[in-house]
Amino acid sequence: MSYCVNCGVELDDTAAVCPLCQTPVCNPSCPVDLESPKPFPVERSEVPPVSRVAVALLLSSMFLSVALVCGLLNLFLRTEHAWSLYVIGAAAMLWVWVVPPLLARQLSLLVRLLLDVTAIAVYIYLIALDLNGMDWYWGLALPVILLGGACVLVLSILLDEGRRSILSSVTLIIGTGGIFSVGVEYFIDQFLNHQWQPAWSLVVLAICVALIIPLIVVRRVPYLREEVRRRFHM
Ligand SMILES: [Zn+2]
Repeated sequence: MSYCVNCGVELDDTAAVCPLCQTPVCNPSCPVDLESPKPFPVERSEVPPVSRVAVALLLSSMFLSVALVCGLLNLFLRTEHAWSLYVIGAAAMLWVWVVPPLLARQLSLLVRLLLDVTAIAVYIYLIALDLNGMDWYWGLALPVILLGGACVLVLSILLDEGRRSILSSVTLIIGTGGIFSVGVEYFIDQFLNHQWQPAWSLVVLAICVALIIPLIVVRRVPYLREEVRRRFHM
């Protein structure tokens, strides 16, 4: 058993260079085993590429069979509400989320998000229609869905900018979560009391800020950043 002299990671006996930092392995008491097969593929062609169309077909048939099975089951297990419609709607929503991006990779972020948010909005609209809940749909559900979509859009644009480190990505995600919670409480308050009285969302925001500050400190101090990078193999 050898360890990398540079990053300290444990190495397989067949490794001639460290797979993490590419430092050549040199251990006189344990020479590199050149005979045994490598524990992972070394050539790209060893792993056959997955066909996107095949994955899309597989996922589509899974969603379709779930929808069909629940629809048929509902015919036998009759209840006041057609519960299977909820499952069928959810399957359709998941299909919109997963399959079009698989088939059309060149779909822009904005179009994909627009598709996803529309799918959620339509699904919740149908539920509201079934439950006579148009009030809460227009007053609460739709604003929260749109706010969530806007947060994800801004976050995706920020994360896409240049090559973000894991630390700054986590910072951005936590920050967006805090802002989203304030927005959610705003819409809930407006819907219930027609007046904004922030309470629990401020607690969430405070926790997010408390989490962000150490992350920013670690990112700014080169010694700490290097320590984290080494320990977590970033
Ligand atoms: Zn190494």
